[in-house]
Amino acid sequence: MCIFCKIVTKEIPSNAVAESEEFYAFHDINPKAPIHVLAIPKAHYQSFNDIPGDVMGRMATFIQEVAKTVGIKESGYRIISNIGENGGQEVGHLHFHILGGAKLSWGHFADADPNDFF
Ligand code: 5GP
Ligand code: ZN
Repeated sequence: MCIFCKIVTKEIPSNAVAESEEFYAFHDINPKAPIHVLAIPKAHYQSFNDIPGDVMGRMATFIQEVAKTVGIKESGYRIISNIGENGGQEVGHLHFHILGGAKLSWGHFADADPNDFF
């Protein structure tokens, strides 16, 4: 069983933000912003590549509710899902990072210079 599946079953403790029959949201153990919540489907999908569209639709509603619950829906926030090796995914259970609580920085995401590709 993967680490986030164990978080779903409470085998590994986590700091819950919201829970439904299908989804779970909890605080990231190593926050990269004042608010850093992870939202996951309880069912195991390896990454965003594998989530069916209908589940993703309900996931969107869940993420909107989580953003409201932690008080960042109106001030603004960012959703990130890292996918696979180049995406920097470390945990192989689909998750969405929900980041906010302060003005977030924005910059180059790769060591390679984007201008080198033109
Ligand atoms: P990834 O790099 O796969 O997109 O992100 C994985 C995230 O999961 C990281 O931000 C990391 O801090 C978080 N994380 C890893 N293990 C645990 C854990 O056991 N509990 C919690 N709450 N977060 C975790
Ligand atoms: Zn899993």
